Amino acid sequence: MGNLSPVSSAVIAVDIGGTHLRAALVAADGAVIGEVRRVRADFSRLDAAATGDAVVAVIVDRLRQAIAPWLDQAARIGIGFPGYISNGVVMGSPNIPALHEVALAERLADALHRPVVVENDANCAALGEWRFGAGEQAVSLLHLTLGTGVGSGLIRRGAIFSGDQGMALEMGHLRVDWRPDARRCGCGGLGCLEQYASATAVARAYGHGVEAAEVHARACDGDGRAKELFAQAGAALGGAIAQAVKLLDLRAVTISGGMIGAWDYLAPALERAMEANLLPPQQGKVTVRASTLHDHAGLLGAAALVM
Ligand SMILES: [Zn+2]
Repeated sequence: MGNLSPVSSAVIAVDIGGTHLRAALVAADGAVIGEVRRVRADFSRLDAAATGDAVVAVIVDRLRQAIAPWLDQAARIGIGFPGYISNGVVMGSPNIPALHEVALAERLADALHRPVVVENDANCAALGEWRFGAGEQAVSLLHLTLGTGVGSGLIRRGAIFSGDQGMALEMGHLRVDWRPDARRCGCGGLGCLEQYASATAVARAYGHGVEAAEVHARACDGDGRAKELFAQAGAALGGAIAQAVKLLDLRAVTISGGMIGAWDYLAPALERAMEANLLPPQQGKVTVRASTLHDHAGLLGAAALVM
């Protein structure tokens, strides 16, 4: 591995998205020493017939470019990836369908000559929040990310709980609306949480072609419809979190993503719906906090994978 400089306890963290990737050099205490925020890696532009090999080649190429300055300062690489991951193998990815049962961690380790750990991006966010953020190293932590969809992860005694196929805690696809005309989800289901509580869903329900941040700005200006949509999102979240608490007996929940900018509109409805749906001994015992890591939860979790 060559000669490592004195900061060799640092690790390289990578967050791969559908169109870009981010990377950082992270110290053992979670401090970000260096960061590249938007390296273009537009997998959606790959040919429809692209193979897993073609996708891996793009990832290797962009990663080399992004992390080259740090390779002599860090011995290990942790990566968050948008897909179902089991022991470093991408079982499938809704955003990058060409990756199906590809041993991504092993392929990247061979190409980059470093140990590489790959985990689901929502699980990484959960681990980051548990280790460095509002999760405060709770015995069990449920973390939700509200963005384009709703991602979630569970940390249990410091370890990610990822299930048998890397698909545990797909809370975005829990049904929260049981009316026959509930919203249809991209997964094929009806009434899924992410159709009510993601930033995309709130923006779509508001209409007028605006994004969730603008819906928030309008709520702050007194727009009743905007406020109501955040309250509906909060209520959907609270109901779903109560179900998770009944399944898993949790006391700590954290939430990250662009939607937490509207926390003041989300949180009251969330708390009400959650408390109303908990078992009596659980009421008043579950803490739901907004992330303290801004948009770094995923990257810091990727770093924590290899610390
Ligand atoms: Zn769904």
